[in-house]
Amino acid sequence: MPADHPYPELQRAISGWSYQPDPALLRGRTILVTGAGDGIGSCAARTFAWYGANLILLGRTHAKLERVFDWISANTATDPVIVPCDLEAADRAAFDQLFEQTIDHYGKLDGLLHNAGLLGPRVPLAHYDSDSWRRLMQVHVNAAFDLSAALMPALEAATDAPVLFTSSTVGRQGRAYWGAYAVSKFAVEGLAQVMADETSKSSIRVATINPGATRTAMRAAAYPGEDPGTLATPEQRMAAYLYFMGPEGKTLPSPTRLDARDFDPDAAGAGSSQPAGSSG
Ligand code: NDP
Repeated sequence: MPADHPYPELQRAISGWSYQPDPALLRGRTILVTGAGDGIGSCAARTFAWYGANLILLGRTHAKLERVFDWISANTATDPVIVPCDLEAADRAAFDQLFEQTIDHYGKLDGLLHNAGLLGPRVPLAHYDSDSWRRLMQVHVNAAFDLSAALMPALEAATDAPVLFTSSTVGRQGRAYWGAYAVSKFAVEGLAQVMADETSKSSIRVATINPGATRTAMRAAAYPGEDPGTLATPEQRMAAYLYFMGPEGKTLPSPTRLDARDFDPDAAGAGSSQPAGSSG
């Protein structure tokens, strides 16, 4: 890393990791990140680009995507593109079009991070409104399915195609008042398992990741009384994301359940370490 680091938050985070990625880890890869405008997705997009990947920045709020695009353009030699897309409204036809555009522009796709998410109400099931339930299922599950299916031919054609789904602590162990957020994350775990089994003889490899409690707008909304300064930054969570997206991720079984907290590359091959936590 150069001394005058343009991404000091990442530089600080890397100094605390046991995993030290090759600076050219993702050079030449094309990776699509959903929810790339904010929080963990924005950080993952900038981090993947920092390590050499060309980023397809998919998200809902154009101005936020532009900020990420501008940062990547100013600080890396990669070739990002913006894909404004509301996953609540997008259908398979929109993703089929995205497949065509991806192949036209990059000629390939060799990485996919399903990250976009929303919190929804924190109430008992009896008080959970149906519209919110359907919104969360749409964004976390239906859109992830449609996007994965539409992009599958590009991923199958790649030499190595990591597909990473974002889960949660409450997507692996249900908890009161997490409603559709928890249930949809369980569905994401199931989607990942089915995809991994179907693609076991292909270049596609699949994992789910639990970021753990991370300093973002979603976390602040879930725990308004919490001091964000006590939480890990998105950059501190990036070791597991990078490991899976890069060639070392090929050593992991498919599917793997990753936990971004205290990620240890030496233990990663065993599947996951999953310490207890209070994160959503
Ligand atoms: P943020 O709320 O900070 O960011 C979520 C991103 O998803 C935003 O960019 C948002 O877009 C985008 N998004 C939401 N709805 C849509 C939609 N309909 N179409 C397109 N994009 C959409 O959340 P985090 O960064 O905290 O969360 C990222 C992922 O990590 C989520 O899947 C979350 O469930 C998971 N997670 C987070 C934890 C945490 O502690 N932060 C813990 C465990 C899991 P916009 O900017 O336009 O709002």
